[in-house]
Amino acid sequence: MNSSMIGKIEKAHRYAREPERIQFSQFEATFRGSHDDYTVRLTGTDWSCTCHTFESHAVGDTCSHVMAMQQILASMLSAEAKYGAQAVVGAS
Ligand SMILES: [Zn+2]
Repeated sequence: MNSSMIGKIEKAHRYAREPERIQFSQFEATFRGSHDDYTVRLTGTDWSCTCHTFESHAVGDTCSHVMAMQQILASMLSAEAKYGAQAVVGAS
């Protein structure tokens, strides 16, 4: 392995310990819920989920899947994506 590759690997290891360097602007994930699989999406600062709770807007514009993703990815989300309208619901 040449030295420039070793340098890249070392840098990658360092970056991997600093997740705050990364900020998701959009992604899509399959979330295995207790009853079914759901698709959770982040577009900019807007979250969506295909579960019934989210689509019915019964509890604001969030659901347990979106809230879990916000906790898992907290250091890699913008403040709006991390808290947004959901923070109000989460605090109650
Ligand atoms: Zn959901």
